[in-house]
Amino acid sequence: MTCAARQEPRPPNLEHGGGSTLSNPVIAALRPGVFLDRDGTVIEEKHYLCQPDDVELLPTAGDTIARLNQLGIPVAIVTNQAGIARGYFPESRIPEVHARLDELLAEHGAVIDRYEYCPHHPVEGIGSYKIDCGCRKPKPGMLTSAATELKIDLTRSLMIGDRLGDIEAGAAAGCESALVRTGYGASITLSGETTPPRFLGVFATVGEAVEAWLHSEEDGPRA
Ligand SMILES: [Mg+2]
Ligand SMILES: [Zn+2]
Repeated sequence: MTCAARQEPRPPNLEHGGGSTLSNPVIAALRPGVFLDRDGTVIEEKHYLCQPDDVELLPTAGDTIARLNQLGIPVAIVTNQAGIARGYFPESRIPEVHARLDELLAEHGAVIDRYEYCPHHPVEGIGSYKIDCGCRKPKPGMLTSAATELKIDLTRSLMIGDRLGDIEAGAAAGCESALVRTGYGASITLSGETTPPRFLGVFATVGEAVEAWLHSEEDGPRA
């Protein structure tokens, strides 16, 4: 069974070209993008976070997203939120938490171009949330959905996260991926077997991962 990731509508972001290419097929070429896990990557990992007041940006996250904004590289958050499936908090908390995140990012001049979240769990889900969906990482559904919306070329893009499932989802979508040592990443050991294709490396922060990607030559200049 497949499903679409739940998406929050947001207005086209005209500040860095996010919405202006859609009406012009000549400049509607696909572009590289960056996919970010949320908890433990952009904000502090707090077990099943669901209170806007608990949102805390991790070091480098705000300035890094602002830098990507300035380069015209779209940024999407892709986050598993099985706390909804498990009945720990209502789905209505998600837009509240993301509004708080937007507020904190705005202090750095940073904007998230798209939020995608998976509210499902294949085993522990209650009612309609119990499905083997196509969006829960390590599946790539949230990345492919955001890529379609934001005109992103997945093969020239990067997924960053603090868990194995994040970098596996990146690989499944055809992206490069990077692991950060924030959140659960502090205790992950990668082996030859667990390292996915096109793995960029392990970095202390999301900022270091993005800098390494911007300066890497695998696909030529990023922007
Ligand atoms: Mg995480
Ligand atoms: Zn899902």
